[in-house]
Amino acid sequence: MSETASFDTIVLGAGAAGLFHAGLAGQRGRRVLVLDHAKRAADKVRISGGGRCNFTNLETRADRFLSQNPHFAKSALARYTPWDFISLMAAHGLTYTEKHKGQLFCDQKSGAIIQMLFDECDKGGVEIRLSTEVSGVAHRDGRFLVETSGDAVSAERLIVATGGLSIPKMGATGLAYDIARQFGHDIVETRPGLVPFTFSGELGEKFAAISGVATPVIASVPGAHFDEDLLFTHRGLSGPAALQTSSYWHQGEPLSLSLQTKEDVGDALRAAKQATPKQTLAKALEAHFPARLAGLIADVGPLAQEARLADLSHTAIDAFAAFLKDWRVTPMGTEGYRTAEVTVGGIATGGLDQKTMESRHVPGLHFIGECVDVTGWLGGYNFQWAWASAHAAAML
Ligand SMILES: Cc1cc2nc3c(=O)[nH]c(=O)nc-3n(C[C@H](O)[C@H](O)[C@H](O)COP(=O)(O)OP(=O)(O)OC[C@H]3O[C@@H](n4cnc5c(N)ncnc54)[C@H](O)[C@@H]3O)c2cc1C
Repeated sequence: MSETASFDTIVLGAGAAGLFHAGLAGQRGRRVLVLDHAKRAADKVRISGGGRCNFTNLETRADRFLSQNPHFAKSALARYTPWDFISLMAAHGLTYTEKHKGQLFCDQKSGAIIQMLFDECDKGGVEIRLSTEVSGVAHRDGRFLVETSGDAVSAERLIVATGGLSIPKMGATGLAYDIARQFGHDIVETRPGLVPFTFSGELGEKFAAISGVATPVIASVPGAHFDEDLLFTHRGLSGPAALQTSSYWHQGEPLSLSLQTKEDVGDALRAAKQATPKQTLAKALEAHFPARLAGLIADVGPLAQEARLADLSHTAIDAFAAFLKDWRVTPMGTEGYRTAEVTVGGIATGGLDQKTMESRHVPGLHFIGECVDVTGWLGGYNFQWAWASAHAAAML
């Protein structure tokens, strides 16, 4: 039998969490090998945040993450904060801009973040092998043996950082879940998160007809509500309000949309009824919404679209105002893993040590990043989890 090359740590996945972990572990004196089947490392970092990588969020707290155990992420997030990552960037001469709600974007673009991850790996003498398929993992005599499309390799520590199922075109696979199952871990059912909603039938056609229109809403599903912009699309609903609620949504549930306006629409319609009684409801709504959306709301709301304000009773106006605060729409589904930014669910946290991300079943086996059942909101939270969980596993 030929000798297998041996390392202290093998990292599966050269994405955000894998590369970050490898740099840290290498700089702590470990001989680290990173394996990835993709031709290029960190492709999701590259395209993230529209090419500027929304690398963290200053409002990072455990309650901005979905998990069956909402406390699990606390330890890692407390020990590696957004400010730690900002300091690392500063040491590499990188700067950032804060945008909406604590979201930080890299001024030098996402390529600079990837270069920083590579530079940190170089400092730690990390070896990275791309275009390498992983065909099997075994655990024997306290070591992990990894069979690959190249040489077999072994190490005493195996860090699984192969991410979730989102965007298979970019190389996403269920490898992390397969390895977890192989070693006796439970998987919390996975589903696409941070993903646009699709609608069918008449409502789908109406949304398509106003595709491109955006408006501020509070979007709610059981357990969550988000005060964000909603975007109407050819396929249904997108924009931050839809993406955020999609992570909490389950098939068949309605979404409640509360359309946000500068003034109270009920009061404004009552005033308009006095001032311009011949105006139609649709026309009157144009004072509060983009014209195409005003037409759609008048059309789907509880009053006749062509009703003149003079004909509307105060009770009818109240009913219409109430509809605007709780417009129920039921998506047909979502665009699925094809476009989802993340995978909700994953490796059950009960099987992992929250301080080190190490398996409770197999010593030396760790799961980090998106493959774990910890999913962040939109806005830099998922990268912060990748950095923090990677750091936790490296501090052993
Ligand atoms: C379009 C888009 C935009 C995003 N924008 C943001 C953003 O701005 N801010 C934010 O916080 N989050 C963002 N995210 C989410 C974020 O990219 C992920 O949460 C994060 O990359 C997860 O890191 P990870 O290291 O766990 O997994 P990944 O970064 O997905 O890395 C996994 C790696 O494992 C490799 N791999 C997978 N299967 C195998 C296999 N079988 N064998 C070998 N290698 C394998 C992959 O090739 C990949 O390189 C975005 C996601 C998408 C899709």
